[in-house]
Formats: sequence, structure tokens, C-alpha cells
Amino acid sequence: MPSESDVIIIGAGAAGLSAAKELSRLGLTYTVVEGSHRIGGRAYSEEIAPGVWFDLGCAWLVVDATNPFVAIADDLGIKLGKDKSDLYKEENHIFQRNGEPLNKDQRTACLRFYGDSYKAISAAAKQGDDVAISDVVDMDNEYSAPLLCGVASAWGKDIDLVSTKDFDSATGELGFHALQGYGNLVAAWGADVAVSLNTRVERVDWSGHGVTVETPKGTIAGRTALCTVSTGILASGDILFTPGLPDWKTEAINSLPMGTENKIGIYFDVDVFGADGRGHYSTWNDDGNAAKVDASIMGLNTAAVFVGGRHGVWLEKQGQQACHDFAVDRVADIFGHNIRKHVNRSIVTAWSTEPWTLGSWACALPGQAHQRANLQRPIDERLFFAGEATVYGGQGTCHGAYQSGIQAAKKIARQLNAES
Ligand SMILES: Cc1cc2nc3c(=O)[nH]c(=O)nc-3n(C[C@H](O)[C@H](O)[C@H](O)COP(=O)(O)OP(=O)(O)OC[C@H]3O[C@@H](n4cnc5c(N)ncnc54)[C@H](O)[C@@H]3O)c2cc1C
Repeated sequence: MPSESDVIIIGAGAAGLSAAKELSRLGLTYTVVEGSHRIGGRAYSEEIAPGVWFDLGCAWLVVDATNPFVAIADDLGIKLGKDKSDLYKEENHIFQRNGEPLNKDQRTACLRFYGDSYKAISAAAKQGDDVAISDVVDMDNEYSAPLLCGVASAWGKDIDLVSTKDFDSATGELGFHALQGYGNLVAAWGADVAVSLNTRVERVDWSGHGVTVETPKGTIAGRTALCTVSTGILASGDILFTPGLPDWKTEAINSLPMGTENKIGIYFDVDVFGADGRGHYSTWNDDGNAAKVDASIMGLNTAAVFVGGRHGVWLEKQGQQACHDFAVDRVADIFGHNIRKHVNRSIVTAWSTEPWTLGSWACALPGQAHQRANLQRPIDERLFFAGEATVYGGQGTCHGAYQSGIQAAKKIARQLNAES
């Protein structure tokens, strides 16, 4: 590791990697220190079957005008499932209660409830009411179960812990997958950034001039530090700051706690979904079991079962086998018990206890949507912050993390250029 850089970047996820590339473009030096054994952070793919990739973290390239990974994939010659981008549209959302699809009238009523709920959330946010979603939607509606399950999965927190303003500020639609994995795409794009792996930051000292960062491999000095770790890591005290972080920063961290969405990927040895089965499902039963299921979204024999919020954390604590069984049960709810004998392999995530993130993404608590700006705000022109939690619009996404890294790099460059 070099003895002194302009910027010490803590974390080699999408935010840290994009910051490194931008700093280099702007003519500044950097050192990236990453605690784990790999780059990519929450962008991570594993092979569930030969040639079939499953993303444990980000999977969907969220499509809005600003997602740079679409062009990056094209540049790298990495194939995106652009022709399969229709499945997350409302008309392709399949609702299944107690193993039966909703009939036409039920489906109309369910979609009306979803539409009314989104309108109520948006109206509250636009009026400046930053309250819990549960305060503005009809929790007694017959179709509240799939909506609650969907919010818990998409936000990682249950509906009583999600801010209307934060919800309303998110932009973009789920577009398509990278066929060989979003995690692999991020790793391929980040491969040209020099990163010191297995280098966990233990302390950031900003008491003197510049910063020093302590790791088990030694202490490094920099003019500034850019911290891109999750709010879960920041809140845990894993990294000691000397002097301690100011109260306004600690408040921002605590107002943006990590939500949990876990995924269980199941690979089947035959096509159990059938010609019309490909789709995205909300399934719920009167016994309280609910999940979101993506079946063969990219045309493969895989299903991804999503469970988030309190239920997701609880299920994670029951262990891998319980998660696997739950997921197989949900797929069986939709496609019948015959699928069970075709289960070939599964991958189970455990994001709430993942030691390098301690959750899936940050979720603003009711009344706290404004704290993303404080989380991002630098301290003493030396300690900078980036990462998915620091942006509006792309919060909780991979491209949002990317954008936060670019913005932070530009800000640091302005600061250092003004000093020299
Ligand atoms: C289950 C799940 C599903 C998702 N689905 C999508 C999706 O479909 N589409 C989408 O766009 N986004 C999705 N996301 C979100 C997306 O993956 C993240 O927002 C994004 O990858 C975060 O990037 P980051 O750089 O902010 O943080 P991270 O990727 O967490 O990077 C921070 C890095 O810091 C490292 N670190 C932690 N502590 C230390 C330390 N003490 N010292 C040094 N390094 C440290 C970590 O190891 C990590 O590599 C999903 C995430 C999850 C978990």
C-alpha cells in the first residue's frame, strides 16, 4: 500500500470502485482498502448450476436514464436480458392466494388497492408528511397481505418502519438481469482498480492533519478518507473513529438502519414452470406464509424466492434448511407439489448477519428521509461518505451506489484542488 494518497477509499463495492475510477480520471491518487476477500460488496454472483448464475445481492438492473451499468455491460460485451424486461410490469404481476390465482374481479380489486396505496403514499410525501406507510394505506384491506410482503421485500423493513417520503423518492423500474450475473458484471468492470483485499479498516483517525487509517496490514495516511461501508457497519462500531463522529452524523446513521431482504435461489433439474409459468408472483396463504417469487424470469429453470423485513430476519435465524424448505413450499404453492422432486440445488442468503454489511440496504425510518443528505455530508472537509444509503432516487441500488461514488470523488477533487 502506498504511504500517502489523496484519498483512502474504505470499501470496494460499486461506490468505492466508481470513486476510485473517477479520482483517477481527475488526476488524484487513491488507496482502496477492502475488508473481505473480493471486490463488489453487495454485488455478488454464484453459479447455482453449471453456466447458471444466481445473484445473492443486486440482480435487476434498475432502468432509469442514469443506470451506467447498461452501457458498461455493452462495452464489456456482457449480455443483458433486455428482451425479457416486461415481467415486472403491473400487468405481468401474478397474485396467488392459498395456491389459487386471483380471478379477474379479485385481481382488479387487488390492483386497485395497490394503485390507491401508492397514490396515498405519494400524496402524503408530496404534502410533506414523512410518516410510516402503514399510516396512509388501508391495512384492513383484503389484499394488504401481498402489499405488506412486497414492501418488506423491496425495502427490507416492514410497512410501519418505512418512510413515505423515502418510498416516494425512489426512481426507476426493475428492468432486466445480466445473464451471467450482475455481481460478475460489477467485478469485471472493477477489475482494473487496485484494491488491497483482506484489509479491514479498524480505526480512522482524523484528529491531526489529514487522516490515518489503521488496518491489520498496517497504518496508511491520506489527505482525505472516503467511507463507503453500509450504515449497518457504521452503526455497529466495527470502525472506530478518532475523534468520534459528531452527533448529527451518528443520528443520520441511526435514522437509516439496514433492512433485510433475503433470497433463496432454487435450481430445478427440469422446467417445472411450463410454457406460461414464467413470471413474477406474490403468493400468500391464510396461514400467514407469504413471499415474492420470480419464476424462470430469465427463461432458466430457476426460481428466486424473496422474504424481507421481520419475517426475513426471523427466517434467517431458523437456518439455511428452514429457508430452503420455506422457499420450496412457496414455489409448490404456485406450481404444485410435483416440483419438489425436481429441486436440484439452492442458494440461501443471510444478509442481516452478513459480517461486511449487516443487512441488505439502508431504509429511512418514518420522519427521517432527509437524513440521507446528512449521511452523505462530509466532516471537516476530510471525511467523506458515499454508498447506496447516501443518495436519493437510487437508494438501495447498485447504480445509486455507483453515482454516489462519482459525486463524492468530484467533491473531494474540488476540495483538494482548492487547498493546493
Ligand atoms: C438481497 C439484495 C438484493 C438487491 N437487489 C438489487 C437489485 O435488484 N438491483 C439493484 O440495483 N440493487 C440491488 N441491491 C442493492 C445493491 O446491491 C447495493 O445497493 C449496492 O451493491 C451497494 O454498494 P455500496 O458500494 O454502497 O456498498 P457495498 O457493496 O456494501 O460495499 C461496501 C464494501 O465495504 C466493505 N467493508 C465493510 N466493512 C469494512 C471495513 N471495516 N474495512 C474495509 N472494508 C469494509 C464491504 O466488504 C463491501 O465490499 C440488492 C442488495 C441486496 C442485499
